[in-house]
Amino acid sequence: MANDGIDDMGKEMLEAAGIAVDTDHYGAAELQERLKLYDGITVRSATEVKKDLIDACPDLKVIGRGGVGMDNIDVVYAREKGIGVYNTPAASSRSVAELVIGHALTLIRNFHLANRAMPVKGQTDFGKLKKQCSDGRELADKTMGIIGFGRIGQEVAKIALGMGMHVVAADPYVPEATIEIKISGAANTVAVKIVTVDLDSLFRVSDIITVHIPKADKPLIGEEDLNKLKKGVLLINTARGGVFDEDAILSGLEKGIIDGVGLDVFKGEPTPRMEILSHPKISLSPHIGGSTAEAQEKVGKELAGLIIQHFREQAE
Ligand code: NAD
Repeated sequence: MANDGIDDMGKEMLEAAGIAVDTDHYGAAELQERLKLYDGITVRSATEVKKDLIDACPDLKVIGRGGVGMDNIDVVYAREKGIGVYNTPAASSRSVAELVIGHALTLIRNFHLANRAMPVKGQTDFGKLKKQCSDGRELADKTMGIIGFGRIGQEVAKIALGMGMHVVAADPYVPEATIEIKISGAANTVAVKIVTVDLDSLFRVSDIITVHIPKADKPLIGEEDLNKLKKGVLLINTARGGVFDEDAILSGLEKGIIDGVGLDVFKGEPTPRMEILSHPKISLSPHIGGSTAEAQEKVGKELAGLIIQHFREQAE
């Protein structure tokens, strides 16, 4: 049962392996009854597979999560019961990384301002808007500070280096990483070794800071950090709402320390606060980091592969 849907390619792979796929969506109550008839379920972030559901479905053999976080699944409990639990953590990394660069370009060239103002004043005040949006800069030669140097952080580094930016990274668990940039295919590969630095050093030198850490208990950038940042810095958060303290961001923008902010994730989703949504220096996207056709196809194929492998191993 693919309760939150599955990409067509993934569905075809499962069916070719003799696994029937139901892509209808069932609400929590109905799901408890329906799932008893199935061997496995795939979900995204919407459907919860918690202890109650697992207990109600004794024949359940596999749970697949298309995407990264598994907060919606009782993973440990399911595995204790012998159920295979799989996710696809790497499938959306490139899509998220490209969104980061999209926000960076938007902020540094004022697309966010232009797209808001042009429909309203584009015919009457073109010259004024041109002037307002003409203080753009180039990304080349700027320093991209990447906090959290895992899958997405390293993918951002790859693109940033390819655009002629400098990259610094901070990650207490990743001392260094070698970033391989493929230019027109694997024959032309450039490898760049990056040794990570501490957070304060990153704050000091970065023109743009992007964050790629898992959910944190306390914000990574708060009011007390503002004076450590380079004046005019751009901040981008595509990780989790609240990784930057939103009050501190508004205060940093007000004080002119922060020049712009790109947000894909928000504290209090799905109802982000209005001061954030209406701020002229914040570029916004509604949590679409992993939502590309390519990422969904990769998710579907990877998940199908894991499920097929699971049933093959069980049959041996
Ligand atoms: P990852 O596990 O590969 O990398 C996370 C890195 O953060 C790790 O290397 C870890 O050592 C590091 N880290 C942990 N705590 C840290 C800290 N305090 N300071 C610095 N580094 C720290 O994860 P990933 O796949 O790169 O995903 C990163 C984030 O992106 C996650 O929060 C994930 O939920 C989010 N994400 C968002 C979207 C979206 O739609 N916007 C899509 C996919 C993932």
